[in-house]
Amino acid sequence: MTRHVDLRSDTVTQPTPEMREAMARAVVGDDGYGEDPTVRELEERFAALMGKEAAIFVPSGVMANQIALRVLTRPGDVVVAGRHQHVVSFELGATARNSSLQFALVDDSSGELVREEVMDLIDASADHQVPVAMITVENSHMFSGGTVWDPDRFAALARAVGDRPIHLDGARLFNAATASGRPPSELAAPATTVMACLSKGLCAPVGSLLAGPTSLMATGRIERKRLGGAMRQAGVLAAAGLVALDTMVGRLAQDHRRARTLAEMLARAFPESNYDPATCVTNIVSFDHPQARQIAHELTERGVWCATVAPRRVRLVTHAGIDDADLEFVGEVLVSFTPAASTR
Ligand SMILES: *Cc1c(COP(=O)(O)O)cnc(C)c1O
Repeated sequence: MTRHVDLRSDTVTQPTPEMREAMARAVVGDDGYGEDPTVRELEERFAALMGKEAAIFVPSGVMANQIALRVLTRPGDVVVAGRHQHVVSFELGATARNSSLQFALVDDSSGELVREEVMDLIDASADHQVPVAMITVENSHMFSGGTVWDPDRFAALARAVGDRPIHLDGARLFNAATASGRPPSELAAPATTVMACLSKGLCAPVGSLLAGPTSLMATGRIERKRLGGAMRQAGVLAAAGLVALDTMVGRLAQDHRRARTLAEMLARAFPESNYDPATCVTNIVSFDHPQARQIAHELTERGVWCATVAPRRVRLVTHAGIDDADLEFVGEVLVSFTPAASTR
């Protein structure tokens, strides 16, 4: 096979040898009875890292988001979210299908929700519009290019929405914490519930966690079962998750440094995109281009595997499987690259 560099997503990462050893050695039990000590350890460790009372281990980030929305709402409720958030655009309508919820969408092109828009939606209940039950945000925000919320603006939003709960989709919260130099517990403090993925930059094979107040996490266990996500000897997976938290957070800064280098190369290769590489602060490079599909297709054919996340938006993601030599290869491909003319 010709050489290739896989920049499609940080979900392509492989478990480390240490994870595989921990999985083989894991002490397990039936988590349906709450008897898997390794799962319990992971849940307690995560809850502490997030500064929350309790946590639940779930098979995927989507399920963590779906459980959070279910425990914080009732059918028919309205949830305020950013237009491009994962829970809105990349979960195949799960929120409508699972929980009979309706989104009220606000601008999130910067990665943050525009506070005035959120407050207008809340205020509109005085005009016979449906009351807002909760708000959900994403940090880092995938679509905008892995941008990170300003912690003070997030805290200010939480104060402004009063006692309405906030769910934080922190699939890449450890990236956000690395980039902002603040602990994850501080970034999650304004949120009632927070989820993070172990299976992206942290390289665990499977698993995400949802953290929040003990009472909500108890209801969350019921909802996890209803969604088919209760697992049995899941300690085999949790063991890899513990290694992920212990050994993989510290290296995320390397992914961020490489993403910035990549961002600079792409901004030079596609000046017509007006992409500003300074907006790349974590591990995602994402920019608009009229020929996005063509670019992704042709780069992939030349060994630089990447993808589009919208009709005119290209995305590349760095992760533990990418090293400096891979970036040199991307640079060589870009030097001679002009996408064939296309209208899309
Ligand atoms: C990947 C991702 C999810 C979902 O995680 P899965 O484990 O793939 O289900 C949720 N939110 C964001 C922002 C993500 O990037």
